[in-house]
Amino acid sequence: MFVVATAGHVDHGKSTLVHRLTGMWPDRLAEEQRRGLTIDLGFAWTDIDGRRIAFVDVPGHERFVANMLAGVGPVPAVMFVVAATEGWMPQSEEHLAALDALGVEHALLVISKADLADPGPAIEQARERFAATSLADPAVALGTDLGQVRSGLVGLVDRLRQPDRDADLRLWVDRSFTVRGAGTVVTGTLAAGTIRVGDELEHAGRRVTVRGLQSLGRDLDQVGAVARVAVNLRGVDRRDVARGDTLRTPGAWLDTAEVDVVLRSPEKVHERLMLHIGSAAVPVRVRKLGPVAARLRLARPLPLRVKDIGLLRDPGEHRIAAGVEVLDVRPPPLRRRGAARLRADELASGRVRPPECAPAAQLRAMGMPLTGRREGVWVVDPQWWVQRREAAVAAVRRWSAEHDVAAGMPLETLRQQIGLPAADLLVRLLRGTDLRVADGLVRPPGAGLPPHVDKAVTTVQEWLAAEPFRAPEADELAALKLGTKELAAAVRAGRLTRIADGVVLGADAFDRAATILATLPQPFTVSDARKALGTSRRVAVPLLEQLDARRVTRRREDGTRTMV
Ligand code: GDP
Ligand code: MG
Repeated sequence: MFVVATAGHVDHGKSTLVHRLTGMWPDRLAEEQRRGLTIDLGFAWTDIDGRRIAFVDVPGHERFVANMLAGVGPVPAVMFVVAATEGWMPQSEEHLAALDALGVEHALLVISKADLADPGPAIEQARERFAATSLADPAVALGTDLGQVRSGLVGLVDRLRQPDRDADLRLWVDRSFTVRGAGTVVTGTLAAGTIRVGDELEHAGRRVTVRGLQSLGRDLDQVGAVARVAVNLRGVDRRDVARGDTLRTPGAWLDTAEVDVVLRSPEKVHERLMLHIGSAAVPVRVRKLGPVAARLRLARPLPLRVKDIGLLRDPGEHRIAAGVEVLDVRPPPLRRRGAARLRADELASGRVRPPECAPAAQLRAMGMPLTGRREGVWVVDPQWWVQRREAAVAAVRRWSAEHDVAAGMPLETLRQQIGLPAADLLVRLLRGTDLRVADGLVRPPGAGLPPHVDKAVTTVQEWLAAEPFRAPEADELAALKLGTKELAAAVRAGRLTRIADGVVLGADAFDRAATILATLPQPFTVSDARKALGTSRRVAVPLLEQLDARRVTRRREDGTRTMV
């Protein structure tokens, strides 16, 4: 299905033309509401050469902009009607300004009432007005020649881009009403994605279920974009849903009240304007950042994505102020001097760099490309990633230089210092370095002990080489100036093994002990072990407990042990 909007001055014959093409009168809201889902939904349609074309007929001036956006989606096609009798008129001008601001490129110009006046001058005028806009050089047909209009429409819709039927769903509601026996029904134009009966969707933060679907008067199990749809909902009261709301894939969209945009065909852009986007019309405060760049603060949040197209309108002056294309839905603060100007340049270029680091799901919800490097659920800017890694190495080096024998830099301190948003990212970052992580601490590779500690530890290692299970006594350690901090550093450096507070043995103490204990008759007592190892109870008791914990030995109920 294709959806085409009509445009043009009042009484120039838009509705008449739609009626002649489709046999339906498009403006029947009252009747629809009375009879509900059983008839169509106010949009007339017809088949031309195998193409189903639905028309969104635009009645009043005021509703034009909103209907245009709500009814046709972001890349609309237009049937622009100008009467031969009157020629170019003020509303022709405003509609053209709106279409130009929206960047609409696909139009068929139809000259009506050619039976009453020479169409030549109207064609000339319209062509001239179109020339400077996104609609330059439209195909032209005379309304009196329906064959010509039909082939013009075929040419028009054949140029339209194919919609993405797998896209996340966001249906802008353009009407809602109650149908007796069915409950709440909303209608809209599905610009992308597919909607199915039974789908769980999100509306205003709550889950709703699709109970029934209709498109162009027929009940369907599923409808793919582009289509006019009527959705019968379970879980929402008619009074809680209105034009400008959305039905959407749960969790796939971010509500935003602040967006950065590039302005199209800006006229007078005041501070207070109305933003029309999707079927919503929301007051905004505009902060101009440059001639074609602005930051908009919305009076209420909307589920917007990068590349969404809308309009700024001045309701007081009935004037289109500018078209907008959303370029960022999580715009950064502009605190630093010159930041606003840099941002303006970036926006003017038409593309904003994605955040340096964000979860993939968030980027998708923002409408940002996932071009960066994947790190788990994160997408990171490759250059930024390399810089974070360099910063991490430097930070850990600095830390160990400043902290003498301290065991290493706490991971959390490092994460904050180098500005990573999550701990799992730090683990991934460090994998690409030779930094060593143990017990929540990071150390440089082969982090040497300070010379005086190194010497003292070597002395202890020599003693232990001679008598492996005779742990140095407290006074011996004190004489070597090996305090708690120094011993902990030696343990972390892999030079000693901690058995208990103030009790250390050589690095291979557990393996050695296991080898010796395995030669004992099983089970054995603490005393047996103490003798075999040539040590005291001060060492043997905690050593055996640690071996139990490591499942090398097993303690039985009577206090004896066996090897596992
Ligand atoms: P809209 O406001 O643009 O939708 O205009 P309508 O479709 O309501 O038409 C306004 C009036 O013009 C109606 O009375 C139509 O019958 C008449 N009209 C529309 N098209 C033609 C045409 O091609 N020739 C003649 N003679 N009258 C037309
Ligand atoms: Mg009309």
